[in-house]
Parts: sequence; C-alpha cells; structure tokens
Amino acid sequence: MTQIALVTGASKGIGAAIALQLANNGFDIWLNYRSDTAGAEEVASQIQAVGHQCTLLQFDVSDPEAVDASLSPMLEKDVPYALVNNAGFAKDGLMMLMSQDEWDNVLQVHLGGFFNVTKPVVTRMLRKREGRIVNIASTSGETGMAGQTNYSAAKAGLIGATRSLALEVAKRNILVNAVAPGFIKTAMLDEFPIDEIAKQIPLKRVGTPDEVAGVVSFLCSPAASYITGQTLSVNGGIYT
Ligand code: NAP
Repeated sequence: MTQIALVTGASKGIGAAIALQLANNGFDIWLNYRSDTAGAEEVASQIQAVGHQCTLLQFDVSDPEAVDASLSPMLEKDVPYALVNNAGFAKDGLMMLMSQDEWDNVLQVHLGGFFNVTKPVVTRMLRKREGRIVNIASTSGETGMAGQTNYSAAKAGLIGATRSLALEVAKRNILVNAVAPGFIKTAMLDEFPIDEIAKQIPLKRVGTPDEVAGVVSFLCSPAASYITGQTLSVNGGIYT
C-alpha cells in the first residue's frame, strides 16, 4: 500500500518542495496550508502529475480545534508514515520593541503547531510501530540571530522537543529528527538583502527549497533508518 506523508505549510516555499519530493519518492501526500488555496492547488496538481494522490487540508496549525476537526476524520481512515512539521512564519523585531502578540504568535505557530499536529499523529504511529517525524527548525534556533528572539526561541524549542520525543518513541520504531535550514530563497526572505547575506555564507549563495527537501526526504527514507534525535543543518556552512 502507498505510504502517506503529511506536510504542514506546503502551499509554497520549502513545504511545497518537500511535498513534491516526497511524492516523487513514492508517497501520497496530505498537504496542509493556512490561506493560499491557489498555491496549495498548484502543488497538488504537480503531485498528481507524478502519479500520487494529494489531499488538501486547510487549517491553522496553531488552532487546536481546527487541527482536530480536520485531522481526526483523516486519522480514522489512515495513518501517515511520515509527518513533516514545516508550517511557520517569522515576525522579526528587536526584543525591546516586540509586542506581546508578536512573541505569542510565533511561539503558538512553531511550538503550539508542532504539539497540536504531532500529538494525534504520533499516537497512531505508536500503534503501528513505525513512522518518521521531521521538524523544520532553523539556524536561528541553533546559534541565535539579532531581531529574532521570538523565532529563535521557537526554533530552539523545536530542537529540544525533537530530542525528547525521539527518546520517548524510539522503542516503537518511530524516528524523530529536525532539519535546520539557513537562508533559503522563499517568500520568507523577501524583506532580506539577499546579495549582502550571500557574502557572509561560505558557499556564497542562499539555498533553494529543493536543497532542504532533499534532506527531509532522506530522513523519511529507508536509508535513514538508524538516525533519530538529530538536527541536520542545511545552511551553506554559515555559523558552523
Ligand atoms: P513560506 O514560503 O512563507 O511558506 C510558509 C508556509 O507555511 C505556507 O505554506 C503557509 O501557508 C504556511 N503557514 C504559515 N503559518 C501557518 C499556520 N499557522 N498554519 C498552517 N500553515 C501555515 O516560508 P518558508 O521559507 O517555506 O518556511 C517554511 C519553514 O521553514 C518555516 O517553518 C520556516 O520557519 C522554516 N525556515 C525557513 C528559512 C528560510 O530562509 N526560508 C530558514 C530556516 C527555516 P499559507 O501561505 O497557505 O498561509
């Protein structure tokens, strides 16, 4: 039977590349997104063009009731083999100027979203005694970055959650890892001076969504069967 991968935040950017690459590797896709229906439908049609099913699931990962309403009926029928927690956004600013909402919202999406989606899925994976979970972290959560205390806290928290969950579920053959991208060319970098940033990166360029997707798809593959609790950095050598 074809295995399923659930990818959150896959209407564009890194999530879209992950969903497409996992489909190319043989998965049917449950594709979550929040607002960009046209983007999600375009990714779905690319997945169908490579011969795989794509089910669109529109919900905000930070809203536990919305996650439950969308995922529970799906999980009655099937259990994803792979879950990729990718949905996210940044709301940058110096901490002295950061509003309570900017702090709360970033933590709710990255950490709350991880909890809301992973808990029901891993519960089912435990019964099947197999599964892969990949959390998309960030260089910002590994090293820190000025202007990103909220985002760095969320991504560092996600790395900690990755390690702890990996320990909890290892004996049931569920592997949990994180991928920490550096600067990757997506809408999230629209406001950043890419040419200036590229000069600071040892490889002298920003990365592509496909370069992150390749590592995620490796972690969901049989070749990664002895890797758990790890964070793989995909950052062109920056800050390492
Ligand atoms: P992007 O192009 O802005 O795409 C973000 C995706 O996440 C969209 O599909 C968006 O859905 C979805 N999303 C955002 N908030 C959501 C929510 N509350 N519930 C459900 N979906 C939500 O960003 P990206 O650059 O691909 O980033 C993807 C992940 O990589 C994020 O976790 C980000 O923190 C991480 N990352 C990115 C970089 C980078 O340089 N780009 C570096 C390190 C880590 P809609 O558009 O449909 O609303």
